[in-house]
Formats: sequence, C-alpha cells, structure tokens
Amino acid sequence: MSTQGGCLADFARCQRPPCRLPARRRIDYYSDRHTIPVRCSFRPLERSVAPLAMLDLPIVTAPPSEPEPPVRRLPPWLRRNVPSGFGLHATAELISDLNLATVCESAKCPNRSECWSQKTATLMIMGEVCTRPCGFCSVKKGRTEALEADEPARVAEAAARMDLKHVVITSVTRDDLPDGGADHFYHCVLAVRERTGASVEVLTPDFIHCREAVARVVEAVPEVFNHNTETVPRLYREVRGRKSDYRWTLELLRRVKAMNPAIKTKSGLMLGLGETTTEVLDTLADLLEVGCDFLTLGQYLQPTREHLPVVRYLPPEEFDELGERARRMGFRQVASGPFVRSSYHAREMAES
Ligand code: SF4
Repeated sequence: MSTQGGCLADFARCQRPPCRLPARRRIDYYSDRHTIPVRCSFRPLERSVAPLAMLDLPIVTAPPSEPEPPVRRLPPWLRRNVPSGFGLHATAELISDLNLATVCESAKCPNRSECWSQKTATLMIMGEVCTRPCGFCSVKKGRTEALEADEPARVAEAAARMDLKHVVITSVTRDDLPDGGADHFYHCVLAVRERTGASVEVLTPDFIHCREAVARVVEAVPEVFNHNTETVPRLYREVRGRKSDYRWTLELLRRVKAMNPAIKTKSGLMLGLGETTTEVLDTLADLLEVGCDFLTLGQYLQPTREHLPVVRYLPPEEFDELGERARRMGFRQVASGPFVRSSYHAREMAES
C-alpha cells in the first residue's frame, strides 16, 4: 500500500485524486496500520474484482510452520560489564602479530575481555579447525591444516611477551594425526619452559584410546594436565560426539596420575545441559576415584543457535553449593561459578 499526503489508499488501483487529508508521519507500527483515515472513500476498480471462476480454486492449507525456539534471555547474574582498555588491545595485537590462535576467541569465551585486559590468554595450538563435531563448541570444523614447526617457538614468544607465570596451552582435536598432536604438545611445553621458566598447564583432547599419545605429553612434565569431562555420562555422546567415551576420559586422567603423580590433574564440567545434581555428584566421585586434583564447574552458554540449547541457567548460589560439596568430597581445589571456565584464573588454582 502506498501513501500520499495523509491518504492510505492503494494508488495503483484508486481512481480518485489524492485525498487532502493532513500529512501523517510514516507508518511504522502495528497500531498505525490500523488507523485508517475516515474521510477516504477508496473503491477499487470494477475490473479488479476477481472473476467468479477463481472462487473454485482448491483451498490449500499451508503446512504448520516450525515453532520458533523461545528466545531465552540471559538471567541477570550472567549480564555484566565488559572490561576494555589498553591490556585488551595489547593482547589482541600480540596474538595477531605472532599469528597464534586462542581458545578465548575460537570458543567465544565470555571471559575474554576480562582475561585479555589482564594480559592473559589460553593459546590454542595445531590450527583453528577441529575434527570433532561437539554440540557445545563453536571452534570451526572441517579441513585441518598441516602443523607448523615454528609454532612452539611462537607460543613461547607470546608467553614471554605477556610475561605469563603460568601458561595454559590447549588445542583443537586432531584425529587426523597419528598421535593426535601429542608430540606437538610436548614441544610446546618444552619451548615455553625453556624461554620463560613459567609453569605450564596443558588442556588436551582425549587422544582417544592412544596410550602412547598420553605418555608423550606426560613426558614433557607439565605442572597441570587438564582434560575436561564436560558433562555426565548419560549426555556424553550427545554433547561430545560419537567418538568420545566417558570411560576413556577417566582412564586418561588415571593414567597421567599413574605415570607421574607429581603432575596435578584437572577436569571440568559445563552445567545446564540437562544433567541432574545426582549425576553431577556421581561424576565428581568418578573423577576423585581416578585421582583428579582440581575441578572446574561452569555454566554452559549456547554459542550460536546451531549449538545445543541451554536447558537451565544455574543460579550462583547453586554453583557455590556444588563447589562446597566438591571440596568436602576431596578435590584439592575447586572453582565453581557461572563464568568459570577450564582456564579461568588457572594460575591461582595451580599455585595453591
Ligand atoms: S577463561 Fe580461559 S578461555 Fe576464557 S578468556 Fe580466560 S583464558 Fe581465555
């Protein structure tokens, strides 16, 4: 429908000269469209009336459209001010200068501004493309790239320039490599230690059923060996993909501890994916049973509409309570809160 002056008639079909109604503002809102000027007596042309034959056309019923998923607003405790400033830009520039990737960006971590403005980041090695289709993770999937031989040196350079005292190194899952990238991890740990003297925490993929790969990373003697459980066994395949195996996750952590008891083992869960409290507590008991030292519990946040939806936002008090229970169960250190991620305040946990 076109408008001219204040008239709302369809000028393509109206035979009258434009009505002289007072000019109105543009029609933008639902209520405006329903305010028709009373003095306009628009009549469509006779020839525009539909011929009777058309009335015999079959009535087609449109298929019911998919209901739109409800727009879930973040609860107030997940809204917060985003820090900015020199530190944030300096970290971003440094990462880009050295052509490195971070899980902070690739996984859309909600703490990025906070961590980067404090000049800390979790470096992600072996490219930005992952070979596993996990339903919770926004890291790119697809064709992987060849490993870069100078990456360990660049990781060490970044750690030195950021003056990190505790360096967290993680990676995409590289099922395409015979050792899952374990040897590359080994060289990164050594390079960082040699260049900076900092303690190193590795956050590794599962190297599924490859004991040699786990042993190769342990050989580098990182101060902390972190491998995330992510969720409870009932949701494992749905959240982590078909290849993942809860029992192997536990076995990996058990092996690390058995190979070198001096290495602290660490694991984490995302909550809000539909798990029950009993299931969480059972999982924590399993982790303790394999000697896990440190635990992180955080709220799962859906990175895009294509990822698994959030089933529940746990209030901070529930995180506090779970954290307290985990401590009483026997974990040496526990970080539990809506914004907690595996590497959030990792140094404090490692040094405790
Ligand atoms: S919590 Fe970890 S992944 Fe998230 S921004 Fe901080 S360092 Fe990066």
